[in-house]
Order: sequence, then C-alpha cells, then structure tokens
Amino acid sequence: MLTIKIIPVLKDNYIYLIHDPVSKQTAAVDPAEAQPVLDVLAENSWQLTYVLNTHHHWDHTNGNVALKQLTGCQIIAPRLEQNIIPGVDRAVNAEDTVMLGTHTATVIAIPGHTLGHVAYYFADNALLFCGDTVFVMGCGRMFEGTAEQMWQSLDTLRQLPADTALYCTHEYSLANAWFALRIEPDNIDIQQRLQTIKQLRKNQQPTVPSTIALECATNPFLRVDHARVQQYLGMEHAAPALVFAELRRRKDLF
Ligand code: ZN
Ligand code: FE
Repeated sequence: MLTIKIIPVLKDNYIYLIHDPVSKQTAAVDPAEAQPVLDVLAENSWQLTYVLNTHHHWDHTNGNVALKQLTGCQIIAPRLEQNIIPGVDRAVNAEDTVMLGTHTATVIAIPGHTLGHVAYYFADNALLFCGDTVFVMGCGRMFEGTAEQMWQSLDTLRQLPADTALYCTHEYSLANAWFALRIEPDNIDIQQRLQTIKQLRKNQQPTVPSTIALECATNPFLRVDHARVQQYLGMEHAAPALVFAELRRRKDLF
C-alpha cells in the first residue's frame, strides 16, 4: 500500500507525497515549492525519487529545479508541455506508465485546463492525482482547451472505479459547494457535503481526498447529463458538452 502525505502550500495549493514503504521510493506531485517537500521528506526520512507534474502552471512546477538539485530526483511531465516545464527528465504520453516500486501509475490525458494536462492513476491503490481538472465539487478553468475537450476529460475521469480516491491540487471546496447548492438546492448529498466541508475548513483541515463516487453525486460539472442540472440552466436534453460550457460560464461569474 502506498502512503500519501498532503502538504498545503501557498494560498490554496496542495502538494502530495506518494511513498512506497517496500521500495522506499517517493514521488512529489505538483510541487509549487521545494522547501515544504524537503521538510516532510526529512520528517519521515524519505528520499525523493520523482516529481510528477500534471501541467505546466507555475503553481505546480515552481519547486521542480530546486528539488532536482537537492535530491537528485527525476522529473516526469506531460510530453506536450515538456518544453515549458522546468527540468523535465522524462516526458510521458497518455497510456504511459510510471512505476513507484511495484505500483504502476497510468498516465491519462485530460486536456482542457491546459492542452497537455495529464492525470496519474494508480489503479492497484485506487488513487487519482488529477491536478487542476476535477476539484472537490468543481473543475478547473479552461485556459487553453475547449468546453468539448474539458467535458471529455471529466467524463473520462468519471468512469474510473467509484471508490477511486481523488487528489486535486487546490482547496476551492467551500466556494464550489455553495455554487453546487445553487444549481441543485434539493440535492441532499450536496447539502450534507456542504456541512462536512464547512466543518473541515473551520478546523483548517483539507477536504481532500474525495472519491469518484462522491464527485458523481455532488459535483455539478460531472452531472451535466442529469435532469435537475439541465433544468436549472433551461437546457433540457442539450448535449452534455453544451451544458458543461454554460455551467462553467456561470461559475466564472459566480
Ligand atoms: Zn493550473
Ligand atoms: Fe493550479
């Protein structure tokens, strides 16, 4: 079993450490900063094997070079963004695999937020690291891709096993929950989850990880083919990608 450490950094980012106690290999996902990673490595007497970047944004890659210099780790990043991500040693495509000891992560292409954005999926541990694509009760903005691409990416992730733990890179959950409740005020799962999130944030606890099942039940962006969401937008029977585009537009204004 892999061990996960959640490291809150900057205003609302998370860096994740994934550690395999058998091989002693460790990966850092989307290191916005190096020092907090070095601190957690030292606390646990772990050594860094890899950096895994999901996409090129500064707040996911800024720690790359320092971590490589100080730990000798290898930097793994999406091929489409390898020239704009600092320090890349290995560029990965969709379907490529990354091994952490005997555990396999499969690379999933999820364009939309950026065009090269990938997720790392450890099927044997039911873990998904999805960067800025799916958030708890929300999704990333489309900085580079189209609504059609982003919807396809969300739909791909939505089809992973329901018990898959979902680790996203930002803590936007409270604002996302209020938006979700606006869309589906009668949805009991959303009402309950808002209370859970309020409580966690009051105690400064992270709201990650989520699960695919929880997101399918409460994340409006994964529910654009549900009647209630379509009704709210006045878009009954519209194509999911169109409903998604309208929902994303409204969230940008929320
Ligand atoms: Zn981003
Ligand atoms: Fe980000």
